[in-house]
Amino acid sequence: MYASRNLSKCTKDCLCLFVCPTGATNTETGQIDSSRCLDGCRLCVDACPSKAIFLVMDEYPEPAPKDAASASKMMDLCSSRFAQEKAAAAIAASSDEPGLKKLTEALRQSLRITAEDCAREAGFMLPQSEPVRALMEELESS
Ligand code: SF4
Ligand code: SF4
Repeated sequence: MYASRNLSKCTKDCLCLFVCPTGATNTETGQIDSSRCLDGCRLCVDACPSKAIFLVMDEYPEPAPKDAASASKMMDLCSSRFAQEKAAAAIAASSDEPGLKKLTEALRQSLRITAEDCAREAGFMLPQSEPVRALMEELESS
C-alpha cells in the first residue's frame, strides 16, 4: 500500500511534509514518491487538512466473474430504466407546468443513474467523460 496525493486538492507546503518519516511526500513533482512510502503508514493521510492524500493498494483482487444469468437480468433492468428515462424526458420537454417539469427532470436523472448502475453491475464500462470515450473508441478501432 502507498500514499498518493490529489494535486487539485492540495494547498501546498504543509503538514504532510513534516510528518512523513521518509520524506516521500516532499518531491519536486508534487507526487508522493511511492518507492519511499512505508507501506501506507498513513501519517500524511491523517495530517492533511485538505483530505488530499489517499492510500492505494499495491494489488487489487480480480473481480469476481459475472454470472451470465444475473448479468442478463441486470441488462433487462437497465433497458427498462432507459425506456422510463426517455418517457420522463418526453414529459419534461412537453410540459408547461414548472412543478411537473422539475419533477420529471429529477426523475429522468435518477433513472439514468440507476440504469448506469445496472449496466456497471452487468459488467460494462461506461464512457462518461470525453477522455474515457476517446480511449474506448481507440481500443475498439485497434
Ligand atoms: S503513508 Fe507514511 S511513509 Fe507514506 S508518504 Fe505518507 S507519511 Fe510518508
Ligand atoms: S498536508 Fe495535504 S494540503 Fe498540505 S501539502 Fe500535504 S497534501 Fe498538500
